Amino acid sequence: KEKLLEIKDLKKHFKLSRKQTLKAVDGISFDIYKGETFGLVGESGCGKSTAGRTIMRLYEATEGEVDFNGDNVHAKKSAKELKSFNRNMQMIFQDPYASLNPRMTVKDIIAEGIDIHGLASSKDDRLNKVHALLEIVGLNKEHGNRYPHEFSGGQRQRIGIARALAVSPQFIVADEPISALDVSIQAQVVNIMKRLQKERELTYLFIAHDLSMVKHISDRVGVMYLGKMAEVATSDDLYAEPLHPYTQALLSAVPISDPEVERTRERIIIEGDVPSPVSPPSGCRFRTRCPHAMDICANVSPEWKEHKKDHWVACHLYNE
Ligand code: SF4
Ligand code: MG
Repeated sequence: KEKLLEIKDLKKHFKLSRKQTLKAVDGISFDIYKGETFGLVGESGCGKSTAGRTIMRLYEATEGEVDFNGDNVHAKKSAKELKSFNRNMQMIFQDPYASLNPRMTVKDIIAEGIDIHGLASSKDDRLNKVHALLEIVGLNKEHGNRYPHEFSGGQRQRIGIARALAVSPQFIVADEPISALDVSIQAQVVNIMKRLQKERELTYLFIAHDLSMVKHISDRVGVMYLGKMAEVATSDDLYAEPLHPYTQALLSAVPISDPEVERTRERIIIEGDVPSPVSPPSGCRFRTRCPHAMDICANVSPEWKEHKKDHWVACHLYNE
């Protein structure tokens, strides 16, 4: 498998005051392969959105590296180089309404990237491109003349997808793209994203707050907790054999369709709230809520290790 992105010890800290720093992303490392969907999961405040934004350089990294096709996007770049990065990495947002300018027609919203990057040879070409984009997300020409408020949530998300695709990116960060939608609409949006991925060889970072949402769309999944990566594995491996106690707890909350299994299986309740990322626990950050916490967990931060092929975990239980 070919790597599209290599994220190396990436950190994004926000200074809140002279004494306080929010360590939203605090040293995460993983790869994203070409053409795959990488699901990034964690409770709100775990740093997954910040990670997504830092990976695509909407935020500057505090430390670490993001290599895109072997090139560090956070190294200083000329305006021209940055423009090409921006074109190759696009974002789909959780709230498509907030991210669509209410005073612009849909066709102008979709054409924004085409204009910025000079991708249309004429006015007609621009309009044809917009119409084609509307069509591939299941909307029509006429929709292009309307304004965002005239659309339903699901339609707005289609507009957001069309806008992202307008510049033919290789990589799309989708930050909870279906969380705000009705369950009946969620599958439609996921199906559009899957179809477009095949047709255009897209690579997705698909951010979600629970594991059930990414289960069917992701090839691999990463689980974040308090700014750190707890576990990364293929979807099959992660759901069949979760290693990290946090992943195990999250998975035990995911409903299983077989009622017999659902009735008899054990649920792991995670006690307590997520500690503040301003002053995270020493050692393993999950230790204040972990049913398996040991003495070492309070003192030593667990190493990020490939426990078996393609299955990474940070937990002292797997240190021999
Ligand atoms: Fe639990 Fe310790 Fe593993 Fe952290 S390192 S998840 S506290 S067992
Ligand atoms: Mg978020």
